[in-house]
Amino acid sequence: MEDCLFCKIIAGEIPSTKVYEDDLIYAFNDINPQAPVHFLVLPKKHIESLDATNPEDAEVLAHILLKIKDIAKEQGIVNGYRVAINCGPDGDQTVKHLHFHVLGKRKMSWPPG
Ligand code: AMP
Ligand code: ZN
Repeated sequence: MEDCLFCKIIAGEIPSTKVYEDDLIYAFNDINPQAPVHFLVLPKKHIESLDATNPEDAEVLAHILLKIKDIAKEQGIVNGYRVAINCGPDGDQTVKHLHFHVLGKRKMSWPPG
């Protein structure tokens, strides 16, 4: 995807603070953190949103969910965390490349605004 900010970050064309990478996924610190630890986990494959996923994406989706706890531990999160996926206009998704927000090291509230 030529005009996708997160594809450019994955390709190293735009700098980021990487926290994890493997063949399928890339994770980096959010530039505008909403918690002391706030990183984003992305499939390397361009998928526009959760709404655009299909059964072929099951492997990478499961892989992200299974990796988050390891990355959270590496980032020093010990007391729980919030995982959020913003999807579409009402979900307040601003970057159209599927990403999982992981926020930790502060107490969250519910419901989100
Ligand atoms: P969303 O609103 O769910 O689409 O989240 C997009 C997130 O990407 C926001 O939390 C932004 O702060 C973050 N973001 C935007 N540009 C960058 C960037 N260049 N590096 C790191 N995070 C970014
Ligand atoms: Zn992309």
